[in-house]
Order: sequence, then structure tokens, then C-alpha cells
Amino acid sequence: MSAVYSIPLRTRFRGITVREGMLLEGPGGWGEWSPFLEYDVPEVEPWLRCAEEAAAGDWPAPVRGGVPVNVTVPAVGAERAHEIARAGGCATAKVKVAERGQTLGDDLARVEAVRDAMGPDGRIRVDANGGWEVDEAVAAIRALDLAAGGLEYVEQPCPSVHDLAAVRRAVEVPIAADESIRRAQDPYLVRDLEAADVAVLKVQPLGGVRACLRIAEDIGIPVVVSSALESSIGISAGVALAAALPELPYACGLATVQLLTDDVVDESLLPVDGILPVRRPTVSTAAAGRVAADPERAAHWVARRADVDAYRASMRQDRRP
Ligand SMILES: [Mg+2]
Repeated sequence: MSAVYSIPLRTRFRGITVREGMLLEGPGGWGEWSPFLEYDVPEVEPWLRCAEEAAAGDWPAPVRGGVPVNVTVPAVGAERAHEIARAGGCATAKVKVAERGQTLGDDLARVEAVRDAMGPDGRIRVDANGGWEVDEAVAAIRALDLAAGGLEYVEQPCPSVHDLAAVRRAVEVPIAADESIRRAQDPYLVRDLEAADVAVLKVQPLGGVRACLRIAEDIGIPVVVSSALESSIGISAGVALAAALPELPYACGLATVQLLTDDVVDESLLPVDGILPVRRPTVSTAAAGRVAADPERAAHWVARRADVDAYRASMRQDRRP
């Protein structure tokens, strides 16, 4: 059984305004397959593995009952950023910076507003999504660290792993690697080049909960589990990983369901006092009907999945002697 959803975002995020994905039901429950639309077939294959693992129910046992999370502040104006940070009710805020078309001044004002909202004990991290060159990153990080009254870390300041390593050598603020892990041929280059202090893991692009557990074990730096802007079904896979990690020193980026205007379950996976409960929601017929994609978009996803199946078959063919 499968269903395709289409849910508008509250605020434009990484250039998109609507989130789409396919939900798969198996003997172990529901899984979500929601790779971004511009990704090609080889790149979306591990995303499908994650959904299949969930549908099979093949998740490790949790070692904790709750997952601390950050509130995510998109690249909005300072006033709106203040509201979002305060409303989040979390001890940690992640602020988007280096958005195309904006200035460092916009970022500084946003980060100052978030500090004001969080109070002196709140933790603030920023995410540049690879938006800076090395020199630009070094200058921006120093300025943002001052404006924030101390940054917890900076996520993906530059696109390349080598540039990440160069920035890390130049600044005091810890560096987190996100795209350098989930969109890289080799996630361990970050470790080998000592390019980051923190590894951001996302279960869909990295092929599921168990695949991420292995990376966490091998990469040798602390791990933060983050979402790919999923519905509560996809988020529950991230929660399963965060709940199973032996160590979880940082808040996770899994409180993103509120960035969507609706959900596919009746009781969304939302944080209470900055903590996400470790539970597994199920798709509700009413919610799935409300957010069902139109027939043309649903057909697109069915065809996309068939493309992945064909790709897998061709890979198996290649491996034959
Ligand atoms: Mg990121």
C-alpha cells in the first residue's frame, strides 16, 4: 500500500514552497520516501532504502525515551525570527544564514533577535548550507559569533570538504558537516581531512537508521540527527536513529513538522518543552486524504519509484560476472 502527499510549507525553505513524498506501508509500519524533486535516480535510491527499512520495521531498540531538539529559524526578518525562536520552546535554535539574495547584515540582525528571544542560556547554531567562500565564511563566522554572544557551531559554511577544513583551521567556532556527508561519495572524507567537529546525519539520504548508526560509529565525532523536512512519518525514522545512538550530546534538528502546514498523521511528532517523544505515529486515512497529491503528481512519484527499481536491477546486472 502506498500514498503520495503534497503539503505546502509555511515559509519558503531551500527554495521550495511545497513538500511532496510517497508513503509506503509494510509489515513493520509506514515509511516515507521524499527525496527533493531535483535529485536524480542514483541519489534518491538510498532515500528509498530508508523508507523500506521503516516499512519492514527493522529499527534498533531505543536507549532513550525523548530526543532534545532545536527550533529552526528560516531566513526570515529579525522580528519574525524572534517570534519563531520564542514560540519554539527549545533550549537550542538553529538559524539559517547566507541565504541567496540576502546580506550578512540580514544574518546578523536575525541572529541578534534570536539571542534576545532565547535568553543568555539558549544555544544558537547557524546553518549556511554551503553559501560562503572560505574568506567570506571566516569573516561571517567571527561577526555572527559576536552577534550571537557565542555560537554552538556553524553548519556547512562552504560547499567543499576541503574548504570546510580550511575554515575550521581559521576559526574557533566548531564546524558541523551536513551536505559534505549526505551528498558526498565518501562521508568519511570529513573525518580523514579533520574538516568538522560535528557530523549531521539525515536518515533518508544516508540509507536508513542502521546505515546511519554505522556511520556514527565509524566517523569518530559527535552526531546530530536532522530531518529532510519530512512529515511525521519520515521524522519518526530520524527519531528512531536519535533514540538508538549511544551518545547524543547535541539537540537534534527533528522539530520541523511545524514548518509544514499539515501532516499525514493525526498526532504530529512535535516537541514538548524542547523534547520529541520517542514514538512511532501511523498514517491516518483522514489526514492522508486531506493532503493527497493530485493524480498527475501521484503518477510522477509512482514513475519515479519505478525508475529506482529499474536502476537497482541494472546495478545488480552490472555486478554479475
Ligand atoms: Mg544543514
